[in-house]
Amino acid sequence: MIGQMRDVTVRETLRRVWGYGGFLPLQEEAVRAVLDGRDSVVVLPTGGGKSLCYQAPAAYLGRLAVVVSPLIALMKDQVDALRQAGVAAAYLNSSQTREERAAVERELAMGRVALLYVAPERLVMPGFTEWLRQAGPAFFAVDEAHCISQWGHDFRPEYRQLRVLKELFPQTAVHAYTATATPQVRADIISELRLREPLVLVGRVDRPNLVYRVQPRTDRLRQVLAAIDRHRGQAGIIYCIRRSEVDELSAALLRRGLRALPYHAGLADAERRANQDAFVNERADIVVATVAFGMGIDRASVRYVVHAGMPKSIEHYQQEAGRAGRDGLQADCLLLWSGADYGLWKSVLEPEAAAAPGALRKLGEMFAFCQDAVCRHRALATYFGQEYPAASCGACDVCLGEVTVADDSGGAALKILACVDELRGRFGANHVADVLAGASTDRLQAMRHDRLAAYGALRDVGKRELRGWIEQMLAHGHLARSDGEYPTLIVSEAGRTVLRGERAPAPLRSLRKAAPRPKPAAPEGEAGGRDLFEALRTVRRALAEERGVPPYVIFSDASLREMAWLRPTTAGTFLEVKGVGEWKCHEFGERFMAVIRAHAAERT
Ligand code: ADP
Ligand code: ZN
Repeated sequence: MIGQMRDVTVRETLRRVWGYGGFLPLQEEAVRAVLDGRDSVVVLPTGGGKSLCYQAPAAYLGRLAVVVSPLIALMKDQVDALRQAGVAAAYLNSSQTREERAAVERELAMGRVALLYVAPERLVMPGFTEWLRQAGPAFFAVDEAHCISQWGHDFRPEYRQLRVLKELFPQTAVHAYTATATPQVRADIISELRLREPLVLVGRVDRPNLVYRVQPRTDRLRQVLAAIDRHRGQAGIIYCIRRSEVDELSAALLRRGLRALPYHAGLADAERRANQDAFVNERADIVVATVAFGMGIDRASVRYVVHAGMPKSIEHYQQEAGRAGRDGLQADCLLLWSGADYGLWKSVLEPEAAAAPGALRKLGEMFAFCQDAVCRHRALATYFGQEYPAASCGACDVCLGEVTVADDSGGAALKILACVDELRGRFGANHVADVLAGASTDRLQAMRHDRLAAYGALRDVGKRELRGWIEQMLAHGHLARSDGEYPTLIVSEAGRTVLRGERAPAPLRSLRKAAPRPKPAAPEGEAGGRDLFEALRTVRRALAEERGVPPYVIFSDASLREMAWLRPTTAGTFLEVKGVGEWKCHEFGERFMAVIRAHAAERT
């Protein structure tokens, strides 16, 4: 009975503070664990709404809750977002001045803070734990809890110190949150944090709003530009393996007039921070980054993520691609891969194999994922140990029919092998493709390669497709690259068995001309909706600048879209928009409604 009443009031908090009509899957169970004081581990995919699981009970209880979070930059944004919604939140970290810290400590002493964000190293400082003991926190929430596990993709040694939490605060519940779904990581979290009979909640890892595409890399810049082209003016992240690639690619995009910025560990702190801020505050559309540094890049409305190189594990891929579409709206994920990426990672990981067992296996699984032609949503769910019941997802290149096995791909594979053989392993992929395509370049003629048996053998195929097939055959291990400064193509041992007819060639995927994508059904009145959406974005940016916070902290894109669709002009109707709580309605409502009214006046 009492439990039921409590649930009603938490829902009320949800509506009043956040403007949400209900819970997302498993949020309610997670919130109940917090209110019951039972330790918990909550695994929800990115965008699954993990933060609400501890923020809502903290706001409801009005007692101090301590949140452990790994990144200082994210802490500030989270706290800004809570304050804009009228929740008393604060953080303590090394980026603050002495005065700022003292101000927070005063607030804390007066018991005015409901959510306190701290870095793990601060949490275990003797003075701080002493103070905490007196304050008597209602509970601890450990965000990005996979950082405690060596099996995770982002191990942070300082998280190991959290072991002492249960010793110091045996009576206080500890709740762990992560998007990493492997059982190994989960078990590690439980044992490292010494959780007691925790409630374990594991959500569906699948992200139905993400559209996955996986393509062999044939021309990095051209492929990246094509992806950007579909998303002009929208936010995107492009991941590269190396810093030098980040620098080159971001420069190339800038030269084309795109608002792109680089982001990697080699940049000076100030520049990195400036670039990150520019992206989060919508002064830049595109961030080109190394994979190691994605975590600080936080913008819920990222519409596409491109991997210009293959990540070293599916966990990494899931995490990075997952930064797209956190607002629940459709977003695109494109992965460009090549056998060279595999070779590169292998050379990096092999010497460390003793230190990071399993890394090579994970690399192999990632590579296999790239080459497979099964539904990407299904492949990812299966990898994380979950079933994927739908026959077709309708949201990946395989299910959309963009990946097809080439006609007579077996015959083509044999022709490619024969050509490489005929060239005696002395030429690179580009030249091999020229010969097969029957190109008439000067180089080719000078070497009289137009007289080879293989010349023009795959004339109808097109050079881009040929390059893709060569990559696939490298991936299958039927071709190999020689070592040396100018790697050339050679036929591998396995390839020889194919040439001799002892083994069947592996099927080659064709990149059919991208069929025009069916547009998602446009909501009624979309034509005017788009201008209005842009106008609302402008108000949001202005408000964000006035308050010195990122725009998404004011309202998400999803909320703006709903505003453009519902066009509320009174406080009562404005509150109906998802993501509009009472505080935000009071603070921002008039500014947005003024734009909506002006828009309506213009159109009549
Ligand atoms: P995660 O940390 O799991 O990646 P977030 O906490 O950032 O996810 O939430 C993802 C998005 O979902 C945010 O835009 C958030 O506002 C929204 N959201 C969270 N809970 C709800 C809910 N109950 N109803 C509607 N939207 C929600
Ligand atoms: Zn699919």
